[in-house]
Amino acid sequence: MFKAIFLSKEGDQFRAELRELDDAELEANTPGADVKLAIDHSTINYKDGLALTNKSPVVRKWPMVPGIDCAGTVVESASPAWKPGDAVVLNGWGVGETAWGGLAQRGRYKADWLVRVPAPLTTRDTMAIGTAGYTAMLACMALADQGVASGDILVTGASGGVGSFAIAILARRGYRVIASTGKLAESDYLRALGAAEIFDRSELSAPGKPLQKERWAGVVDSVGSITLANACAQTRSGGVVAACGLAGGMDFPSSVAPFILRGIRLIGIDSVMCPIERRTLAWQHLAQEVDRQLLDAITREIGLAGVFDAGRAILSGQVRGRIVVDVNR
Ligand code: NDP
Repeated sequence: MFKAIFLSKEGDQFRAELRELDDAELEANTPGADVKLAIDHSTINYKDGLALTNKSPVVRKWPMVPGIDCAGTVVESASPAWKPGDAVVLNGWGVGETAWGGLAQRGRYKADWLVRVPAPLTTRDTMAIGTAGYTAMLACMALADQGVASGDILVTGASGGVGSFAIAILARRGYRVIASTGKLAESDYLRALGAAEIFDRSELSAPGKPLQKERWAGVVDSVGSITLANACAQTRSGGVVAACGLAGGMDFPSSVAPFILRGIRLIGIDSVMCPIERRTLAWQHLAQEVDRQLLDAITREIGLAGVFDAGRAILSGQVRGRIVVDVNR
């Protein structure tokens, strides 16, 4: 038997509970999986908050073990790619949505979803980073790949998971980072991460002109909606905007003006189906660039029983930095 968060639906009745499951149930609900993990840690992302509270249709198969991320040790493998004892990290691929996820002590996954935990990171470190940090790295890689090598970079949703990592990575890479936040009280935290300037997100949340004063060489946006439209309108000629999230809304009320009059590029970041080569590269960059002391400073740890409160808190924008779930606590 092992402990897992278990989401179920009977008719319209949604139920979220911490329960014991057995290996037979795990096997029956993970068809096609060829690697079994003893999970050490998972985490709470915004999407997990949505799944745990049934706020939007993240879960598309019932019953579901949620958790879009996990890290642990291989205990059984039918694939030659992995052997017992290997430490691995898993992000996305639909786990916690269409396949059983990581908020559990055991999981079964496809061999080609797994990435070896790169030294010097531990499995816990990878969950302190989680999909948030890995997505921030994909966004930073996109800016670099598109030729943004220096200058002022706007990070929106700055105090969140993606935002926090984006600030730290970009500052370390030598960019000047400007953070937009709804939590000015967290300014010391944002400065400690590497933000050079901080402003109130209300400056970006009201509809603005299609072309505004050119300010940003690049943008990492977790917010979407009007914020993303304003960020595009303020991006310098030839600049690049990496769209990662929708914390402020899924719409994008913009115009073509920044694209056809300033040649800006809007790059979508998809961590879920990112090819294995690129995600492996992202994890290698993270292993080299993330300061592990900083990881401790931005991370709070909870046990499996704490995920319901944490899910509600992340949806209400109340979480600063990252939450690691020790599934064996
Ligand atoms: P968090 O909840 O940790 O951070 C989101 C931040 O956005 C908040 O901390 C807050 O920062 C800001 N925010 C929250 N609500 C609003 C609002 N109504 N208007 C404006 N700003 C708001 O989430 P994550 O960092 O984990 O994820 C951020 C977004 O990225 C989410 O939408 C998530 O779904 C998405 N995402 C996408 C991925 C992909 O593959 N593309 C992968 C991972 C996440 P502050 O108070 O500092 O303004």
